[in-house]
Amino acid sequence: MTNTIDAAANVDPNEIKKFEDLASRWWDSESEFAPLHAINPLRTEYINLHSPVKGLKLLDVGCGGGLISEAMSAFGAQVTGIDMGEAPLSVAKLHLLESGEKVEYLKITAEELAEQQPETYDVVTCLEMLEHVPDPSSVIEACANMLKPGGDIYFSTINRNPKAWLMAIVGAEYILNLIPRGTHEYDKLIKPSELSQYARHAGLEMQGMIGLHYNPLTKAYKLAPGVDVNYMIHCTKAI
Ligand code: SAH
Repeated sequence: MTNTIDAAANVDPNEIKKFEDLASRWWDSESEFAPLHAINPLRTEYINLHSPVKGLKLLDVGCGGGLISEAMSAFGAQVTGIDMGEAPLSVAKLHLLESGEKVEYLKITAEELAEQQPETYDVVTCLEMLEHVPDPSSVIEACANMLKPGGDIYFSTINRNPKAWLMAIVGAEYILNLIPRGTHEYDKLIKPSELSQYARHAGLEMQGMIGLHYNPLTKAYKLAPGVDVNYMIHCTKAI
């Protein structure tokens, strides 16, 4: 396997390939994407609760097959979704025919779009994507640049510590087989302290942080305090 990282574009082709290979099953809620389907109402309702998106312009970075983009569109946002995967974007566009939602999907990096569309969006979401890019701080900065002053931004990722390794990698990929082996690489996981520092550096103010917890016995997910494994942060851009 080649491991060329296009540093200029901040895209790792191996990471893009992981999602290209699975893309046809993106909307199958019993596929490798089952966990994303299971958490989707939790995370999108959390976002809409803190930033009611009706009538707002929302950018979904690393949108994949469009689970978040469509949900936010259903809440009334005017959504643009961007990703660097060809196949996930095709699936996302096709699914609009089924759902009747309207989303603009573009194949472009956050960094490139930020040059074209500074201070354009009321809300930016970038969920479960930062742990797949070579330089997450660059994506965070680009996302912040595209946000209007006073706008809201949400990032989610996986913490990096022994418990996160055990739960999110060993548990989810090797014991429970919830997602394919190799989906997440330990070194690319991001501590909340690192994410907050990148956000502050990008001119964002932290508003909240919440954990996303999985109970393997009940197979249920919930949002609750405790950011040891999966977590989401909410920031705003100063006016
Ligand atoms: N945000 C979606 C999908 C998460 S999967 C959700 O939570 O439901 C991660 C996505 O990030 C994949 O679709 C992958 O193609 C995309 N991705 C990885 N690196 C990227 C990059 N540098 N730029 C844009 N998208 C990227």
